[in-house]
Amino acid sequence: MSGPRVVAIDGAAGSGKSPLARSLARSLGLPYVNTGLMYRALAAAALRAGVADDDEARLLELLRGLRFIVPVDPPGELEVEGYDQGALTDVEVESTVSRVASHSAVRAHMRQEQRELGEAHGAVMEGRDIATVVFADAPVKLYLQAPADVRARRRAAERSATDIGVAEALRRRDARDARTNPHRP
Ligand code: C5P
Repeated sequence: MSGPRVVAIDGAAGSGKSPLARSLARSLGLPYVNTGLMYRALAAAALRAGVADDDEARLLELLRGLRFIVPVDPPGELEVEGYDQGALTDVEVESTVSRVASHSAVRAHMRQEQRELGEAHGAVMEGRDIATVVFADAPVKLYLQAPADVRARRRAAERSATDIGVAEALRRRDARDARTNPHRP
């Protein structure tokens, strides 16, 4: 196999990408990079700094200040310095992340960082443009699908929230994400 050892996993939110990616990374002895966390961290940073989600220039400035860390010895999971799991799965973050992720300059910067992270030591990498854009030539590419109600139930269980609220939030986020990155197996 030539090129970096990358397993690229695409699919909708709640389709089960993360549990699969984490378990594959463990079995293969590779770092696990959940690229959704990178966009979530930028959304959280914008909320903290009071930067509007349509201010591309200031979002880019905030992004340059974020530090993404992937432990490699032993291989671990991507972390964002200064942002814990709670901050990144916050409902406010989820309601703005799609808009933050829609800017082409933001995406160009993120994709560059993601390529560097994957090329350095290989990785299991998940996110909605990983197998189509960021690592389109990865040796292994997976695409996950699941019905909307199953995805909402999984998310609700993860968040101890009601299915109905989660389903509606997911539907809105999916619709916005599809405008930026239509799903393509
Ligand atoms: O996968 P997750 O739900 O954590 O992703 C959060 C958001 O980040 C997505 O709804 C999408 O707006 C954005 N995202 C993206 N491209 C990726 C990963 C995530 O636009 N590769």
